[in-house]
Amino acid sequence: MENRKRFRKKEDYKLRTHMIHGNYESKKWDYDHHVVPPVSHTTAFRLSSLGRGARGFVQFASADEHLSGHIPIYIYDRLEEPTRSMLEENLAYAEGGEICVTFATGMASVSGALGAALQKGQEVVAHHMLYGCTYSLMTNWLPRMGMCARFTDFLKPESVAASITPSTRVLYFETPVNPTMELIDLAAIRGVADRANAGREDQDKLLVIVDNTFATPFCQRPMRLGADVVVESLTKGLGGFGTDMGGAVIASKDWYNLLMLYRKDFGGVLSPRSAWGVLVYGLPTLATRMSNMQKTAQRVAEFLSEHPKVESVSYPGGECFPQKALARRQMLNPDGKFAPGSMMYFVLKPGTSKQTRAEKLVDYLAEHAYSVTLAVSLGQIKTLIEHPFSMTHSALPDEEKRAFGMHPEGIRLSIGLEDWHDIIRDLELALEKV
Ligand SMILES: *Cc1c(COP(=O)(O)O)cnc(C)c1O
Repeated sequence: MENRKRFRKKEDYKLRTHMIHGNYESKKWDYDHHVVPPVSHTTAFRLSSLGRGARGFVQFASADEHLSGHIPIYIYDRLEEPTRSMLEENLAYAEGGEICVTFATGMASVSGALGAALQKGQEVVAHHMLYGCTYSLMTNWLPRMGMCARFTDFLKPESVAASITPSTRVLYFETPVNPTMELIDLAAIRGVADRANAGREDQDKLLVIVDNTFATPFCQRPMRLGADVVVESLTKGLGGFGTDMGGAVIASKDWYNLLMLYRKDFGGVLSPRSAWGVLVYGLPTLATRMSNMQKTAQRVAEFLSEHPKVESVSYPGGECFPQKALARRQMLNPDGKFAPGSMMYFVLKPGTSKQTRAEKLVDYLAEHAYSVTLAVSLGQIKTLIEHPFSMTHSALPDEEKRAFGMHPEGIRLSIGLEDWHDIIRDLELALEKV
């Protein structure tokens, strides 16, 4: 690698520029003459001597070696691999954390973070509304390993404080909450953890783990607001194009060793091909995609909130958003500007027939719309719509769904990059029919 002398320090450049240029001149691999790094495809790496191989095993998963910028000794894809490592450096930078370890999917990163944080007999206190598989992981799988989860309302920090017991090790939540788009106050939950931690030894201290999938690091960087660990799916807004699955855990360097060993032994590594997509397409376009999607989301939210068949619209950028002050404090882009994201939830006024208006609308759009697609997932360049009550959240009992603010007439909308006139026109035409 050539030693170039830059006239400005890298840290002086904006995050948007960093997400495009990343660390391609990293010592991790000599890609210095590539404008775009190649995707590497090798499960094993040639070791030039036995000594080098032995050193590689000793150095593996050491945070000091990892952060010192030394050239790693690559051995085997499941241990460490350059394309993935470069993505990890860039994601850690974007989230404002020291290190990142990627995983095969968002769920592999959630289980990795919990697996590294919890021991037998310890428990998680989590918000009562969670991504369905996270809820299932906590209620079906943690107990089999001697850990457990309890649920409470994180919109009320006092109820979180009241739920903490001496065995609680993790406070876990998503913000914005899926699908209702309520926000959880990161700084307030940090305060709860700090008060509970006052009398605890280091190894017992409560950890705040936040799933930042909905907001992405463009709209919110939870580590800056007190999260200890961030987990996120790369399948959604970070990947952005809907082609590959992936997940990431971002944390301080103390977590590096444990997370890398966990990943090595449980085996849920991100494939270099999937890492490459996020590295060269997803992350570099995140700021541009989000800025454009937000403008459209704002217009769609305005259109919906004025429509006579719409009861309410929950979009953090909306005029009537109930947690407007919190949204403006917490959801900020890297330049400090309000960044309410691309996700919204709206509730229709009940119709007269047995089938809900929401189901009819989603069905009608699925058949007739060109710019709006019925599908799960989110954060893609295509606008996606779904009906959480009967689809993504159908596993929850009806009373719980209602108690947690989910409505049979509720619809989740993930805004894409289509022309905003088209999205509004398709919604308008469909609303006429229901
Ligand atoms: C999709 C999603 C996940 C899981 O990610 P996968 O990549 O599908 O495993 C976790 N949390 C949230 C909030 C999600 O939307």
